[in-house]
This record gives sequence, C-alpha cells and structure tokens, in this order.
Amino acid sequence: MKCNICEFRCDIQESGCGICGMYENKNGQIVERFKNAYLFINPISIETQPMLHFFPNHKFLQLGSIGCNFKCEGCVSNVFVKHAEVFKNALKILSAEEIIQKALRENSKGIVFGINEPTMQYFSLLDLAKKAKESKLLFGISTNLYYTKGALEELMKYLDFVNVGLKGYTQTTYKKFCKALDSKPVFRNIVYLFKNNVYFEVSIPHVKGNEIELINVAKFLSKLSHHIPMQVMRFVPFDNASAELEPSISESEELVEKLKRYLDYVYLFNSPGTKYLNTTLDEFSIKRYFYGPMGAHIASATGKPTHIVGNICKKNFEEDGFFGGYRLTRAIEMVVGILNALGVKDKKTITFVIGTILRDRDFLAFFHETQDGENTNLENYFDVVNLLAKISNTDSSKLVNFYSEVLEDVKQKRKNVDKKLKSYYVMGTPIFALNTHRFENKLASFVGLETIKLTKEGKPGVNITHEELIAYNPDIVFISGFISCKEEDFYAYCQTHNININAIKTKKVFRLPFGWDFGTVEWIFGLMFIANAAYPDIYSFDIENKYYLFKNKSYTNTNKSFYANIV
Ligand code: SF4
Repeated sequence: MKCNICEFRCDIQESGCGICGMYENKNGQIVERFKNAYLFINPISIETQPMLHFFPNHKFLQLGSIGCNFKCEGCVSNVFVKHAEVFKNALKILSAEEIIQKALRENSKGIVFGINEPTMQYFSLLDLAKKAKESKLLFGISTNLYYTKGALEELMKYLDFVNVGLKGYTQTTYKKFCKALDSKPVFRNIVYLFKNNVYFEVSIPHVKGNEIELINVAKFLSKLSHHIPMQVMRFVPFDNASAELEPSISESEELVEKLKRYLDYVYLFNSPGTKYLNTTLDEFSIKRYFYGPMGAHIASATGKPTHIVGNICKKNFEEDGFFGGYRLTRAIEMVVGILNALGVKDKKTITFVIGTILRDRDFLAFFHETQDGENTNLENYFDVVNLLAKISNTDSSKLVNFYSEVLEDVKQKRKNVDKKLKSYYVMGTPIFALNTHRFENKLASFVGLETIKLTKEGKPGVNITHEELIAYNPDIVFISGFISCKEEDFYAYCQTHNININAIKTKKVFRLPFGWDFGTVEWIFGLMFIANAAYPDIYSFDIENKYYLFKNKSYTNTNKSFYANIV
C-alpha cells in the first residue's frame, strides 16, 4: 500500500511502517501511528515560529510532536526526531476541539505547528486546520514542504501561512544533507503555494561552503517576487554535525548582503546582536533582536508597514521560561545530559523522566529559574540534579559533592580579591549582553567579579548600544560558549566601531568552551575557567585534571548538543 503524503511515497506492507516511522498500513489504510498526539503546546510570539512579516508580534498557540521524514545532520530538533521511540510515551492526546478551545481561551491569533515536521501528523493537522478555520483562527506550519502535490493541495485549502524550511537548492544537497530523493518537489510546491496565494516565508541554513546554494534559492524566489522574506539560519552544528560547518556571524552577514541583491527582505537568525534582523525602509522600520535559537523579538516599529500581512500587535508577548520554539529542545537536551552524567542512558528511564517533567511544568519552570532567575544561585543547580536523580532512582552524591567541593574552594579563595574587576558576558557579538541574572553572570559573580546591571532583559539577553558598552567599560569580557564568536571577531568589531574599552586595551577577552557555562553539567568547568582568567594570581584550577573525574566526557556530546546518548 502506497503512502502518498510525502515524496518518499513509501510502499508499506500490512502492519508495517514507512521510512519516517510515523505511518502504518492498517487493514489496507495508511494511518498515523500517533493520532492527535503532541509533545508540547505553548503560546508563542509568531516571530518564534519564525514568521517575520505575518501578523508581527501576535500571540499564537504552538504545537509540536515527534518524528521527521528527513534525516538532517545537525538538526536543532534531533533530540525529538532521532529518538521518537523514546519520546512517544511522553505524548499527550489532544483533540482538535481541545486545542481550539485552548487557543481561543488564551486569546491567540491562531495555531501553528513547528519544531518537528508537520508532514508526520498529516491527518491530525488536516482536521485541526479545518476546524481552526471554522473558528476564525489562523493556521500555519513550518515544514520542509516535501509533501506530494495531492497532499499539499488538500492541506493548502486551510493554510494561512507557511514557513518553508529549505535545506539547499540542488538535488545533491538534498540527498547529502537530509537524505531526501530530490529538491525538485520542494521547489515545485513553492511555486504551487505562490500561485495559490498562500502566504509563505522561506528559511534556509547557511552552512560553511553552501553559499552558492543560498544565492540560487534567492534567484529562484526573486523570479516569483522580490518581496518573499528569506530567513538565513546561521548553522549551529547540533547533534553529530561537524563544528567546521559553522560560519561566523560576520561571514553570514556578508552572505546576507549578497542575497539582498535579489530579494528585498533577507534576515539573519542565530546571530545575537546582528542588524540583519531589522526591516529598514525609508518610510517604515522594525527593529528586532535575537530571542533564542531561531527566534526574534520586536524592539520597535515605526512608520506605515509595507509588505507585512496583518497588523503589528503593539504589545510583545513574553514567552514563559524554557517554553516556546527551540528553547525546549535545549532544555530537554540538558536534562538528558544531567541524566547521562548520573549514569542514566537507557531509553526506558529517560522516557520516564521526560514524560514526568513534561507533564508537570513545575520542574522545567524551576530549572529555568536556576538558569535565569533573580532569586536563585549556583547551589540551586544541585536541587535540579537531586530532583532528576530522585525521578530516575539514581544517586546524585558523586556529582553534587564534586560541585560542592569546587564551590567551597572558590569561596575560600575569593576572599583574596581586593578590588573587583568589572566583567561583561556576551553572546555572539559585543553588543548582545546576557541578562544580569543569567547563569553565566552568576558564574562571574561567584568568582568575585562585578557584573553588568541591565535595565531590561530578553531571552537570553538584549542588545545594548555602543555608547552603553563604552560607558560601562568592562575590564574583562567573556563570550558565551553557545552561539559563540571568536575572540578575534570580538576585537575586530570593537576596532571597527571605536569601542576602546579596558578589556580590549588589556586583551582580556575570553571565549568559553562550548557547554562550559549555561545549563549543562559542565558549568563547573566554566566557573574554574572564568576564575583562572579573571584572577590568575588567586585561582589556578587544573581544569583538565578535574575534567577526567567525569569519565572522559561521556556525559555530553563533543559538538553543540547538551547530551551524550540515549541507548
Ligand atoms: S510520510 Fe513520507 S516517509 Fe512517511 S510513510 Fe508516508 S511517504 Fe513514507
């Protein structure tokens, strides 16, 4: 029996599954294995979908589940996609009516499906989209658009907007990057959406070396319309992708400039501090800033909107804690990382823990509070570890004792700090300051550094002006290990913009190794790293030596994911 939902067109035997693992042949019918089953349902600002020119700033209810028909290396959602069999027990069954009632109750403008591939929930979403339309709610998806023409034709009747997640331009790239058969069906479907007046924006990763693919996509789109927004996702290599594939923010910015020769609206994501999230026309402007992986938030909007669908909501919607977009995938990875450090790698226990914490949002709220809360400190991380140990029935004492010993050591030594140096913790570029109460700043403060006091906060920080940075004049700078930048890029930016702060004069700019600061089990190494860099006369931690206490890094990955394994 053929499955005609996507272009793999799997031939599925009775009681068998297609290659995505999400559809089966039951009595001669193709059915979803997990109908109306979702992993999470949270309100988001539409920019988190991400959509930038469609009802900007409005609140939408976002749904996500498990599975994908593509197998992309370095996918930000791989923890849910590759381990679908682990997460299936954490799924919640919600009827279309229940979802619609929730969206209406919460005053959402509409419903969106993202994080994993909506092709995997085709029949559930078709029903939901139809009913959303009847209830006057907008409905949209983020998809790789590998649908068959027939499947898209049916769904399209109820779609108000689409974020088309491209992987490249050519068949070779699609085959290599995501194991799809060809890129042609996707571009055929783009034309089909365009001809049928379905609003869409296009997102595409910038992987080092694939620039020509993006230029060809921009040329292709420009033949349809110069106004189609193109979102360039600077590639951050999650999962098993090579770190060599990550372009620097300045390299991605150069590419955006080239793409703007073909399209009027090209935006750059995963690049805190970049100006290429802004829409700037003579008569109209929207200023945006980084708001987590693949997210953006509006800082201001002025003038009469051009090429924007719908009105711009005046009030930002602030997403809750780890919820909204890809933050949850990072949080789940961190939880799995902690479990790995506690010696838990088996599917059964991990499934049980994930199911438990997704059902009871208190744990994730508390975990987020330890990472970005005003009233928490480093010791609260022990509570997170202890709670996970309790749920997984493991012993946390070895890990917690190790943390405690290092913290006690730092407490004793920091008594020798006479005059506190002023520190500044950034992500991506020199003007993206991490929140005052973020975990990274807690690390800096713990070793005896002064930290910046921001008047506003974001996720995970906010843009500050050059003048504000110059006025603060930090003595030492730390660059986050996650969504990072090289020290030389930091120096170059400051030189270009005449930012002559103390840290530049004394060459005290330090980049944290990945995973050594925010949230993961290895933060204790970040603490030691910061201590050594800030006050070398006081601290001299032998980090490598301590490092091997944890069985040769078997608890986190070597690239940009926060966990090591589920077996
Ligand atoms: S959705 Fe695609 S990959 Fe999944 S069973 Fe159907 S044709 Fe195969």
